[in-house]
Amino acid sequence: METKQHPGTLCVQAGWTPKKGEPRVLPIYQSTTFKYDNSEQMARLFDLEDSGYFYTRLQNPTNDAVASKIAALEGGVAAMLTSSGQAASFYAIFNICEAGDHFISSSTIYGGTFNLFAVTMKKMGIECTFVDPDLSDEEIEKHFRPNTKCVFGETISNPGGNVFDIERFAQLAHKHGVPLIVDNTFATPINCRPFEWGADIVTHSTTKYMDGHATAVGGCIVDSGNFDWMAHADKFPGLCTPDESYHGLTYAKSFGKMAYITKATAQLMRDLGSIQSPENAFLLNMGLETLHLRMKRHCENAQAVAEFLESDERVAWVNYAGLPSNKYYELGQKYLPNGGCGVIAFGLKGTREDAIKFMDELKLICIVTHVADARSCVLHPASHTHRQLSDEQLREAGVAPDLIRLSVGIEDVRDIVADIQQALDAAIK
Ligand SMILES: *Cc1c(COP(=O)(O)O)cnc(C)c1O
Repeated sequence: METKQHPGTLCVQAGWTPKKGEPRVLPIYQSTTFKYDNSEQMARLFDLEDSGYFYTRLQNPTNDAVASKIAALEGGVAAMLTSSGQAASFYAIFNICEAGDHFISSSTIYGGTFNLFAVTMKKMGIECTFVDPDLSDEEIEKHFRPNTKCVFGETISNPGGNVFDIERFAQLAHKHGVPLIVDNTFATPINCRPFEWGADIVTHSTTKYMDGHATAVGGCIVDSGNFDWMAHADKFPGLCTPDESYHGLTYAKSFGKMAYITKATAQLMRDLGSIQSPENAFLLNMGLETLHLRMKRHCENAQAVAEFLESDERVAWVNYAGLPSNKYYELGQKYLPNGGCGVIAFGLKGTREDAIKFMDELKLICIVTHVADARSCVLHPASHTHRQLSDEQLREAGVAPDLIRLSVGIEDVRDIVADIQQALDAAIK
């Protein structure tokens, strides 16, 4: 019923349908625990024989309502909220990879995710190969191994703004019997629904556009329910063989299309505990109610700002998929016909110092370690978010040392352009 509605309606209404006399607005279930009448009822919950709430580390009604809104928006079957986008990326992979396994990731991804994959997960015995997403199919296929368990990429990469060819990567992943996981943070389901192009699992940093007001760190994992785990049972023993910590229950057999999210909840949340607080989920839900309106404005403003930057001779280059001159324009037209996001990457002519001076001269647009919220902001990844990366890794991640990441907000675009204009005038003589 819900999924037949249009995204704008889902943003406002999905997830919470109050019954007679219940609150119209999704309440914050600020409770760690839930009450039952007898011990038998509780025991059935622990055995996953009944569904119900018992402890907020695993599930909470506020979180579940918001997760099901995001699942509806993405066109998935189930979703779970996490405490951050980082936790979502980690759980999404760790749910199907263990020590000795391998996966493939696009090299043009968020710096935090790059570190997680290249350094931290490596320490856990899970190896990631980063591939340039613009390589040919043949070159990418060379990186698949017998122990490869998934492929990962970002719809629109942070900060480079590259557009990921979801359909092509889904075909490559499926040819090798593994799912494609797409981080859809920047596009949001308003501008792209990766499942429609063959992706199997979607992750989000809800901290960005979904919350949209820079109030709550959070993440989400959504499952399309389309990947047939049992057809590749040898690759995914965690889903397709009995879980000893649940009395020998087999997720893919007992839960069908819900297997992946059920395992992530019952096992990873139980043991690792990166749950989103119900209060943050409430704030996230408020953000989601206007996501469709805000994304439209972010994109209109960013398009105008990108065109302005491209026309200014002090600007060396602009990467925004909405510009016809852009390398990713064609892919953008395919995957993001209504616009991509509000984030623009660009570089100035002149030195690295000129770039820093330009940012310091901005008045309306603030320097913050954030992106994708209502207020315009700016960041220099090479000196901030991607500081840990070597020059070589920076290049691999599609981050030029002179790259300025401008997150165009939903203010009046005339004021945003005026601020950029005055900062350019002041910084570059
Ligand atoms: C910010 C971000 C993340 C990490 O999310 P947090 O909520 O900061 O943990 C992951 N992916 C992308 C694309 C991001 O922009």
